[in-house]
Amino acid sequence: MKKALFPGSFDPFTRGHADIVQRGLRLFDHITIAIGVNEQKKGWLPVEERLRALRQLYRDEPRIAVEAYNGLTVDYARQQGIGFILRGLRTHKDFEYELGMADVNRQLDGDIETVVLFSESDLANISSSVVRELANFGHDIRQWLPEGLCYNI
Ligand code: ADP
Repeated sequence: MKKALFPGSFDPFTRGHADIVQRGLRLFDHITIAIGVNEQKKGWLPVEERLRALRQLYRDEPRIAVEAYNGLTVDYARQQGIGFILRGLRTHKDFEYELGMADVNRQLDGDIETVVLFSESDLANISSSVVRELANFGHDIRQWLPEGLCYNI
């Protein structure tokens, strides 16, 4: 079974992220959406809320799991027996960061391959940071979130 890890902050999870997951399911039998927990950075939504909302969203999809993890992504992938890291690329601005991460991760574990999917052009301008900012100004953010995803903010 081909399994992928889709790691990120997902603070919040957007329609752009959901699109990468859906298209990733054409390549992989199973995708684990993995919320990276950084003890130093509190984040906007509590990790428990990010987990709860995403598990609720994908509750009827047996090919998608949602987990949180500490530490290095490759270590977590290896522990879970997952051979691929899935990432999304919006514009050239993401490119250098994603290339650097993929390089480091390959150096750490050459058996884990990074697979990058290009964003749909109409979703490429969606970022968690912009959605957070809009929410902080009291804007209704539902149009940026996948249908059915509901956070208790
Ligand atoms: P990180 O903090 O690890 O960058 P994010 O939650 O911001 O975590 O993003 C996780 C992954 O999703 C990254 O590969 C990022 O490039 C990708 N991504 C973010 N927004 C979009 C989008 N609108 N379309 C496609 N991919 C996206």
